[in-house]
Order: sequence, then C-alpha cells, then structure tokens
Amino acid sequence: MIGPNSKDLICLNPDCRDYRKRNAGNIIKKGFNTKGNQMFKCKTCGVRFPETKGTVFYNRHLTEEQIIMICKLLVEKNGVRAIERIMEIHRDTVSDVIEDLARHAREVTDYLITNVGLTQIQVDEMWSFVKKNKRKLSKEMRDLIDMVIAGSTQL
Ligand SMILES: [Zn+2]
Repeated sequence: MIGPNSKDLICLNPDCRDYRKRNAGNIIKKGFNTKGNQMFKCKTCGVRFPETKGTVFYNRHLTEEQIIMICKLLVEKNGVRAIERIMEIHRDTVSDVIEDLARHAREVTDYLITNVGLTQIQVDEMWSFVKKNKRKLSKEMRDLIDMVIAGSTQL
C-alpha cells in the first residue's frame, strides 16, 4: 500500500513546539484507526492524527469524507455549481478544493485508487473533467494533470 512516510508529515497542532516543522523527527507511526488508516503521533506534543491530516485531504473547512465526495462528483462530471448545490458548500470553497487537488494530482490519484477504491479510468476522467472545467488552472497544474493521466496509460 502506498502511504505517506512519517518524515513527510508535519504536526498541525498550533500549540506544539514543532508545529509545521519539517523533518524534525517528531512524527512517528502509531497504530491504525477504525477505518484502517495509519495513525501518526507527534512525540513533541503527543497529538495523534490520521495519515490524511496535513495532506490535501485535510482541509480547514471540510472533512476528508466531503473532499472524497467532491472527487466522486467530479468523476460523475458535476461542475463546481452542481457540487455547490448537491453538497451545500459555497462554490469558492469547492473551487479552492479542486485547485488544491490539481496541485497534488499525483498524490490524489494514488489516494483515490488505493484508499477510496476508484479505478484508474475514473480518476483519469476526473482529471480530464477538471482540466476542461477549470479554465483558471495554472499551466503548471495543467501540465501536472497531463503527466498523471499520461503516466497511467503506461501501466
Ligand atoms: Zn506536535
């Protein structure tokens, strides 16, 4: 299973001395939660958190489940406004999430296939749809999406 390495993770507890410090050696693996996700612990402050915290699936405004739902709605070719209507989340927030997903296209692809159970084809469709619908995406993000889609065809 592809999962984040503990050294790529950071502590997101604002009260922690090692808050957001990278490679501080404070994050260790600490068992699994009920959903089977790897849990991590910050040795400095003792806070435990799932692997998704600190990744694209951890968002100040939305739960991991909501972000996964947005991905699934994108697979079904629902645009920002449709997602806003279905999930009752403001379109600016939806838009931010999609940009964030695109920025981490490779990580998101792995996550959706490994942890959510989407197929490669579904994820490719999601990216194609995102590219078509988000005209404001930077060239960098478009290139990244192209790379992820192209990479999958070699499998
Ligand atoms: Zn900490």
